[in-house]
Amino acid sequence: MNYRGPKRVRISDKPMPQIQHPEDAIVRVTRSCICGSDLHLYNGNVPDTRVGTTFGHEFTGVVEEIGSEVTKLKVGDHVLVPFNIACGKCVFCKQGLFGNCHESNSQATAVGGIFGYSHTAGGHEGGQAEYARVPYANVGPTVIPPGMDPDDAVLLTDVVPTGYQAAEMGGIQPGDTVVVFGAGPVGIMAARCSWLFGAGRVIIIDKEDYRLEFAKNYAKCEAYNFESDMDDPVVFIKKATDWLGADVCIDAVGAEAAGNAMQTLTGRKLLLQAGSATALHWAINSVKKGGVVSVVGIYGPTDNLVPIGNLVNKGITLRGNQASVKRLLPRLIDHVQNGIIDPKGLITHRIPLEEVADGYRLFSAKLDGCIKPVLIP
Ligand code: NAD
Ligand code: ZN
Repeated sequence: MNYRGPKRVRISDKPMPQIQHPEDAIVRVTRSCICGSDLHLYNGNVPDTRVGTTFGHEFTGVVEEIGSEVTKLKVGDHVLVPFNIACGKCVFCKQGLFGNCHESNSQATAVGGIFGYSHTAGGHEGGQAEYARVPYANVGPTVIPPGMDPDDAVLLTDVVPTGYQAAEMGGIQPGDTVVVFGAGPVGIMAARCSWLFGAGRVIIIDKEDYRLEFAKNYAKCEAYNFESDMDDPVVFIKKATDWLGADVCIDAVGAEAAGNAMQTLTGRKLLLQAGSATALHWAINSVKKGGVVSVVGIYGPTDNLVPIGNLVNKGITLRGNQASVKRLLPRLIDHVQNGIIDPKGLITHRIPLEEVADGYRLFSAKLDGCIKPVLIP
């Protein structure tokens, strides 16, 4: 695919990717998902997203060619490729912070390299394509275990580890009440994984009824619509928790909520306090004193949305990061193989790569019951 400017993507021919470094591999893509993170790019909200870029950071494929220093893969291997590009050797990778690799993003922003995620994340081409160049091929790409459904494998590149890490960063204690904002694929997976950490009650909040219905079934949680089930999500959550607040709040929305806040100031939700209408604000304001807010929703480098007064006065711990896919993979592959997590249950649409523009429209506008679309080259 080829980004042409906000809300415009199309298919076009590009030169075949080449090995540029001895640790590179070239992968023939077999599946490639569209992610909520791609919508930030699609909407033109990520700095330095250049026209001509190929998006796509959630893909599986077959190794076609390897550089002279690739020892962990061979031609013909069917691999899942974590969305983070990680060197495996820097001070951050050595701590398991593969999403914060110091080498894979020469732009020196906070984030490490990410496939197809603008020049803010290293300017690497993405996997919504027939072929992709995979740097540091000894580190990220992981051979899909025999017998694993490829639809499960492709969701291990991002959604499963991100949802899991959202719950993990929450430091959930047995019996805790966890509130997840955002019932997209990531929020739904975070809700599902919260049970694995011992949550006693899991609540998910969104404005799309079909997603809430899906979340209820898939993640076995309570689900509420912030537009129709409540006036103020903060009051609603307080009321539901004996006025103490949730133990853990997870923000699985990100920058879209910043957009909501702007709409709120001019739109029909004027009753909500100005500046309080983002998932992040709701999370900070509805978590209990001493609670944890875990943020996996993606914000732009210049978004400055934290209600710091409440955060300090309530003694809240605020955590966030890009998921460290490689760190979590062994555990999560196990969970998939043992039937504890069912990633492919999130996939609602299979779309030929040539119809990528329709895929983005569908996922972005939340049409036709879309939860997670996968592109098939
Ligand atoms: P998505 O766009 O499909 O889902 C977002 C959901 O949030 C939508 O259903 C939307 O209706 C809902 N929403 C909007 N405003 C809301 C609000 N104020 N309160 C509650 N819900 C609200 O996206 P996704 O694929 O599920 O991804 C979710 C977020 O996670 C995105 O910001 C994405 O960039 C981010 N993400 C982060 C990582 C990471 O490693 N940290 C990885 C993948 C995705
Ligand atoms: Zn993603």
